[in-house]
Amino acid sequence: FKARPWQLKEVDSVCGYCGNGCTLTLGVLNNKVETIRFNDKIGVNDGNLCVRGRFGYSFINAEDRLQKPLVRKHGRLEPASWSEAMDAVAAGFEKARGDKGVGILSGGRLTNEEFFFLGHLADKVLRTPHLDHSGGECYKGVTEGLAETLGVKASTGTFPQVEECDAILAIRSDFYETHPVFGMVVNQAVKRHNAKFVVVSDKKGKFTKLPGTQTLLTKPGTEISILNALAHVLLVEDLAQTDGVEGVEALRAALADFAPKVVAAKAGISAEAIEKAARDLAQGKNKAILLAYGLPYNAYSRELGVAAANLAILCGALDGEKGGLFLCGEKANSQGAIDQAIVPRQGGMGAQQMLAAAADGELSALYVIGEDPLASYPDRARTQAALEKVPFLVVQDLFLTETAREADVILPAVSFAEKDGTFTNAERRVQRLRPGVKSPGEARSDLAIFSLLAGRMGSSLSFTGPKAVFAEMASSVPGYQGLNFDAIGPQGVVWGGENLAPQWRKVKAVAGGEPVAARFQMVTGSALYHSGTLSVRAKGPLAAMAESYVEFASEDAAELGIADADLVSVRGNGEELRLKAKIGKRLQRGMVFVPYHFADAGVNKVFRGEAAVAVEISKASV
Ligand code: SF4
Repeated sequence: FKARPWQLKEVDSVCGYCGNGCTLTLGVLNNKVETIRFNDKIGVNDGNLCVRGRFGYSFINAEDRLQKPLVRKHGRLEPASWSEAMDAVAAGFEKARGDKGVGILSGGRLTNEEFFFLGHLADKVLRTPHLDHSGGECYKGVTEGLAETLGVKASTGTFPQVEECDAILAIRSDFYETHPVFGMVVNQAVKRHNAKFVVVSDKKGKFTKLPGTQTLLTKPGTEISILNALAHVLLVEDLAQTDGVEGVEALRAALADFAPKVVAAKAGISAEAIEKAARDLAQGKNKAILLAYGLPYNAYSRELGVAAANLAILCGALDGEKGGLFLCGEKANSQGAIDQAIVPRQGGMGAQQMLAAAADGELSALYVIGEDPLASYPDRARTQAALEKVPFLVVQDLFLTETAREADVILPAVSFAEKDGTFTNAERRVQRLRPGVKSPGEARSDLAIFSLLAGRMGSSLSFTGPKAVFAEMASSVPGYQGLNFDAIGPQGVVWGGENLAPQWRKVKAVAGGEPVAARFQMVTGSALYHSGTLSVRAKGPLAAMAESYVEFASEDAAELGIADADLVSVRGNGEELRLKAKIGKRLQRGMVFVPYHFADAGVNKVFRGEAAVAVEISKASV
């Protein structure tokens, strides 16, 4: 059955996938999302949606959505009433609170209001400093780097400004994969406005094919060294903007070790390429430095944030009317999680530390919300050990995820299409979500569940709806002061204004990375999907890419006698993956790529947060 357009109830909302924050219109019939279409009159996406936003919605209507709480009894997960489930959760958390404490791991797709309430729940009810979100795997480190250098934890400009920039630098980021609609903005800047475009990346992609693009095709793990080398050139050639900047002389001294010749040799590029890129960045009025960040890259994230901010300060990217430093979080509300302080409190543990502590028996409970660490975090073995060892595990999600299967209690939550509230995209634009469909069965919003839990644990914190929570945010969250829920219009509101002024400009020295010495090194990243927790349940993206693979340079494949679709054994970190070969032109010799979003392929058994892993490759027998 195909719904006719006039039969559909249309509801304007925001895409629930990535930090681009595209506005979209849900087409609803009989409480099912039947279509998603763009609305070119509103939003930052100018009528564009990528395959995930446009076709990746079937998970909303999926038959296997959780509809009732589940409580483990005699080793089996059994359906339970909300009352019974909340009794179990409250009792488990109360016990844990008085013992070694509760760790909270949240996803990046809760609304701002839910994150804000969760912060209060952690502080006042669960009384734990251990609070983190999936972006905390990496995004938190980058934002810490920005906070040290600029005093802000967000992008400083807006996406439309990038289209008008004269020079753009993208670091280890292919926005066509991670934030495709922003990728189109960069495309326009390069093709229509002739922006000088420098890409620092370990593989080729759509960005590197743009006309005139200067690609620094580096060895994985050397990105920070290259940023340091670019800063070195700006300082040595007297091209740097240093007025009002603290720490310049100390940085100049530290960067003596990052002369282009030295870095170029390690990174496998030419010194002249580094020098040219630095000179291009120094020219022009408006410049943008772009970082897209995702789950796999938790190694060196703080350092990457500092090195990128150093360069943004020195090349003048923060001085133009347009552009700035852009930090594009992976998930729809990664920025909101940072804004609402979903980060460890004083003395608290981050996501990785919590899992390590749980595996060592040093945490009494884990509360996992909208997140599937077993499927999507690096170092699967450690996550598995943590989930097995922790005495009490609560999972709140849409589906019976791999992590949920280990839980003591599962609480059914709802998707973006069923929620009222706000998301903040990667350019700080606060936008309204509106519910298009009713939740399946007894599933509840995260906000409603948090409120229920607070009440059950004897707190006076209560749920009065997203509007009331937003009003509290608007009186206390930096940048959100004075915002009004009802006054958020079709274009959203950019907190801090179109150009966010840094609080200070402090450049700092950071160590560079060393490339992995091995015949083959494996990198991971996004390919069409994100973490896969939702998109591998959606028909649209699955039609475009149905299973995992290992990608090779054609020369390496020929040398190993591997043909397209052959089964290949990839061994690293004591684990083995068996994957189909994909032979392409994107990769340098000696590199292989495996997307990280097909959990069943087991990529996070091999990756433990490194920039690249040394691997051995051979053709596998079927
Ligand atoms: Fe959704 Fe991101 Fe695609 Fe926009 S670019 S449609 S926000 S996934």
